[in-house]
Amino acid sequence: MVLFQRGYECEREIKLFYNMFFNKDDDVTVTSEFKYENKIINVYTVIEYKNRLYNEDYYFKFDTENKSEKTIKKVFTAACTKSFVHASKKIKDINLPWGVMCGVRPAKNVRELYDEGFSDSEVREIFKTVYEVSEDKIDLSLTVANNEKKILKDNSPDKVGIYIGIPFCPTRCVYCSFVSTDIRTSGKYMNEFSQKLVLEIKKTAKILKKANLKIESIYIGGGTPTALDNKNLELILKTLNSEFDLSYLSEFTLEAGRCDTITEEKLKTAKKYGVDRISINPQTMNDKTLVKVNRCHTAKDVIDCFNMARNIGFYNINMDLIAGLPDEDFSDFKHSLDEVIKLNPDDITVHSMCIKYGARLNSIDFELTKSSIMNKMLSYMQESMKKTGRVPYYMYRQKNSSGNLENVGYSYPNKMGRYNVNIMEEKQTIIALGGGGSTKIVGKDIQRIFNFKDPKVYIDRFDEILAKKDEILKIMEVV
Ligand code: SF4
Repeated sequence: MVLFQRGYECEREIKLFYNMFFNKDDDVTVTSEFKYENKIINVYTVIEYKNRLYNEDYYFKFDTENKSEKTIKKVFTAACTKSFVHASKKIKDINLPWGVMCGVRPAKNVRELYDEGFSDSEVREIFKTVYEVSEDKIDLSLTVANNEKKILKDNSPDKVGIYIGIPFCPTRCVYCSFVSTDIRTSGKYMNEFSQKLVLEIKKTAKILKKANLKIESIYIGGGTPTALDNKNLELILKTLNSEFDLSYLSEFTLEAGRCDTITEEKLKTAKKYGVDRISINPQTMNDKTLVKVNRCHTAKDVIDCFNMARNIGFYNINMDLIAGLPDEDFSDFKHSLDEVIKLNPDDITVHSMCIKYGARLNSIDFELTKSSIMNKMLSYMQESMKKTGRVPYYMYRQKNSSGNLENVGYSYPNKMGRYNVNIMEEKQTIIALGGGGSTKIVGKDIQRIFNFKDPKVYIDRFDEILAKKDEILKIMEVV
């Protein structure tokens, strides 16, 4: 695409929507002319495509007086993207339930508008007129924002969450872009990684004590933490219990993730050391797809693992599904969701398939599911969750996802995952340890400290990891 913008520039946002209407190799020239006069925004867009011109002369009434710079920028950007999208729709009619909203956290947008003093009906109006979000997604955003409030109200500056990254998996799923390594090659680092992690936990415990911070939640993720053998898993859980003050802890999650890593012994170990929430993530309940995406387990294994976890005494289990997996149509997704609902997990998260940089799917012939089918899948999910009494409580969107749709966590009202909400809303400091962890210190701004992702680098440069932990005190100005 060749883009000429006059009057106001937002190339990144235009490109985001361009990718939804056109292919990379299409020969497209876009000219966008922005004016703001007498409280009226006018964006005139012309798209030249296949020797034809498509245009949109878009007007929007908006008074910049008393508006923050951030709000003005958001409205100006939305006007440019709307003008571009309206012109593009004359070439291809694509349904965009999220309209021209670019942000990855729609519920956060709602909360920020609430904080600025807008009422429910005013937020609805802004979502509708500024971003052209569908009624359905407006309802979802407001419901999520109001459910999140119930968790966020308990936050205080002295409460933190702990994230521990275990970057090992039994095989790499074809869509994976997370911090993870295949244990068939990286398994040899597991022992040393775990021993270093113990040292990082000890160092972090001292820092938390010095800064008077209370741990509200622990989330062990990755990767797949249960890819560790029981000995290393126990070492880490035991150290967390002995080093940290867990008297303020209200949630302790272990991503058991893939059932090809779950054993009775590991689940009993987790239970013994206080884990009270686990994830067992099938992603799909169709065996053919599981093979296609490189996961070495069957749908029956998922059912067996789930029942085993319940029998051991886990009463807060999350299950993840992905809508739009390779070669899956609506009936495949419906089957997966129906099967998972039958098991009655406490929390179900449905992700919209997304191709991220670094995923193997990037290098094979794969096309994202049509947005109309994705919409059907997500509508079915929304309806089914409503029927079962689960509520949407956290949500985010990813770029390059099918239909530019959302990932939503639904749980029973008393089972909402605290860590999920806090990490999404960036309202609580999260101290991260292990491979690929990223500490977020929430103050006036958010300051980040990153751990190395690869287990070998984590081990080799461990002194740097420990040194970085001291930065937490500096940032928090603890002397
Ligand atoms: S289980 Fe998750 S982290 Fe592991 S390879 Fe699959 S997508 Fe990646």
